[in-house]
Amino acid sequence: MKNIHCKVFGHDYKVTRHVTYHVKEYTCESCKKQLTTSGNGNLIELTPKFKEINDVLERIHHKRILRINKRMTTSKQQKEAKLLIA
Ligand SMILES: [Zn+2]
Repeated sequence: MKNIHCKVFGHDYKVTRHVTYHVKEYTCESCKKQLTTSGNGNLIELTPKFKEINDVLERIHHKRILRINKRMTTSKQQKEAKLLIA
């Protein structure tokens, strides 16, 4: 009975996925209950519906990071190119 630990000591949540900077998924190490961050920052149970939402959020978030990285690389290369010319 793993759940007894949770009843006595409370759940032992660990972050199992970083969806965005603000949204994470947590899993209880003892009973495997899952939580996620809701839109208003509260922790709620991770239902299949929210898992789906998090998948979409994660995809958008990663795309944004890739775009920012690309932009930074470009401006860095431009700077280096200017140095070469100078
Ligand atoms: Zn638990």
